[in-house]
This record gives sequence, structure tokens and C-alpha cells, in this order.
Amino acid sequence: MSLDVTWALAWVRRTAQVVAENRDLLVELDRQIGDGDHGENLNRGFAAVIGKLDGAEPPELVGDVLKTVATTLMSTVGGAAGPLYGTAYLRAAKVTGVASLDAAGVVALLEAGLEGIVARGKAQPGEKTMVDAWTPAVTAAQDAAANGASAEQVLVAAAEAAEAGAVATDPLVATKGRASYLGERSAGHRDPGAASSALVIRAAAEAAGT
Ligand code: ADP
Ligand code: MG
Ligand code: MG
Repeated sequence: MSLDVTWALAWVRRTAQVVAENRDLLVELDRQIGDGDHGENLNRGFAAVIGKLDGAEPPELVGDVLKTVATTLMSTVGGAAGPLYGTAYLRAAKVTGVASLDAAGVVALLEAGLEGIVARGKAQPGEKTMVDAWTPAVTAAQDAAANGASAEQVLVAAAEAAEAGAVATDPLVATKGRASYLGERSAGHRDPGAASSALVIRAAAEAAGT
């Protein structure tokens, strides 16, 4: 399967589905170290994205889909995660104005997403944020592509690394975002944004049929 606009739409639909299925889990994670709204924020945002896509002309390019996701998330998801995810999808849209993605294209999408999150939130790896899922995902994607992996295989490698990265936030002390108000007491809990990022990236691999 080529990673074309049909894949991009399937990715967004799969993301909306897994975010809805994991809404309560993400709320609970955010209740531990934040204000308990992350699952609700994202669920509302992706439901709005689906509504927007359903009512629009069929998009032609992968980036058209990601741009709709970006603008809809920015206008419907409040808090930290809305602008962060919005900027990630906006940057990703800018490098995916093509009919389909090869392995290098998938790497470029993920790199641009991470760059957007860092540009917006200024977090470094290890600060217990979504950067801790995206950074290993990008590294794994780059390594897989360098070793000749297909676009689909690159997504699988990225998803596995994002999941491991999210788990690895458990012992970290948050130094960015709302969780940083807890200081040392933020340790021992998974970062909700890292957890949701792993879901988003896994959904991309699942939409590719892997
Ligand atoms: P809020 O904290 O405003 O309620 P959400 O609960 O929707 O927003 O999102 C919280 C998540 O946002 C955190 O778990 C973390 O992953 C992410 N986050 C917060 N601040 C930053 C930042 N500066 N850089 C990257 N990610 C961040
Ligand atoms: Mg919150
Ligand atoms: Mg909030």
C-alpha cells in the first residue's frame, strides 16, 4: 500500500477512534499530574476533525489532510496540547504536499512534527512531555529508513519507539507544562501527552495496514 491521501484519511479516522477509546485513560493520566482534561481535549478535537473532513471536498494531497487536522485542533483543543499538536500537524503538512509518501517522506513528516512541538513548547527530551515520545520515534524512523525499511516499516519502528518513550516518562520529573508544578511528585506517573502521542503514531502504522 502506498501512503497516499487515502492512508492519511485512514490515519486521522483511526486516531479519532483510538483517542475516543482511550479518552478515560488519558483523563486519568492527566488527573494524576495535571488537570484531568487531556483525554477530553483531544477527543473533542479529533471528533471535530472528522466532522470537518466529512463536510469538505475530498483532499488530494497528504498535506491537505494534515492541514485540516492542524487548523481544527488549534481552534477546538484548548490547553497546552491544542497548540502543540496543532503546530506539529501544521509543520508536517508543509513537508507532505505530495500525493504519497515513501520512507523518506514518512521520516520528514515525523521530523517536522517534532520540530513543531519543540518550536512551540521549547521542551527538551527528558522533561516528561510529548517530546519524549516524538524524539525516539523520529530517531527510530531515521534509522529504519537508513537501513532500507519501507514507508510502512518506518511507521512501525516509529510507533514502537514512541510507545517505549511514553513508558520511559514514568520515572521522570516534569520540568515543563502543568505537571512541573508538582515537582518531584510528578515522578511515578506517565505523561499524558507522551501517551497520546504514542497512540497517534501507532494509528499511522495501523492505517498503513501493519
Ligand atoms: P493542559 O496541561 O493545559 O491541561 P493538556 O492536558 O491537554 O493541556 O496536555 C498536557 C500535555 O501537554 C502534557 O502531558 C505534555 O505532554 C504536553 N506539554 C505540556 N507542556 C509542554 C511543552 N512545553 N512542550 C511539550 N509538551 C508539553
Ligand atoms: Mg490537562
Ligand atoms: Mg487543561
